[in-house]
Amino acid sequence: MNSSLQFLDRLLEVIEKNIAPITSEFVKEGNMLFGGAILTKNDYALVCADTNKITEWPLLHGEISCLRTYNALPAAERPAPTDCIMIATHEPCALCLSAITWTGFDNIYFLFSYADYKPIFDSTKILKQVFGNPNGEYRRENAYWSSYCIAKLVDDLEESDGRKKALQGRVAALRERYNGINKVYEEVTKAKGIHIPRVTGE
Ligand SMILES: [Zn+2]
Repeated sequence: MNSSLQFLDRLLEVIEKNIAPITSEFVKEGNMLFGGAILTKNDYALVCADTNKITEWPLLHGEISCLRTYNALPAAERPAPTDCIMIATHEPCALCLSAITWTGFDNIYFLFSYADYKPIFDSTKILKQVFGNPNGEYRRENAYWSSYCIAKLVDDLEESDGRKKALQGRVAALRERYNGINKVYEEVTKAKGIHIPRVTGE
């Protein structure tokens, strides 16, 4: 696990500058607020970023969309998954956890947890129903990867100076920004009459 100030600053920067702007555009079509990005482990360079595109195909969740973009890169520009950091704006659902596993990543850093975005989408329902996990949990540490909540890593920083506060402020700003993005999604889907039963748990 990497939880240095510099690393967390970079993860937030990628969400702010590379993921959220794409998502802000695609929600206007009726896609959801979820997005993902991939960085290199050695210098945190952006490999690719993408966003939820379920209007194209219902399985194109933010992470799957990002993995598709990663896979489409020319081999010479595509670092091995074990040399990469996987970022998700929101804790990946069962589909995306499996896709990330199959792609070969050994880590997942997500900004908002299941509990954070439960009012929008309850990812624990599939884990409860299909996998029989009573609390809708999964193993954040397993033989394939470890997953970490960026917001929690920021809160757990030992620095007590202004740098930790600044990162916490950016997490709070992103929370507001994604609330705004979701508002657009709700307005667009209402106007277009788009209804996704699985999102509401039906
Ligand atoms: Zn998903």
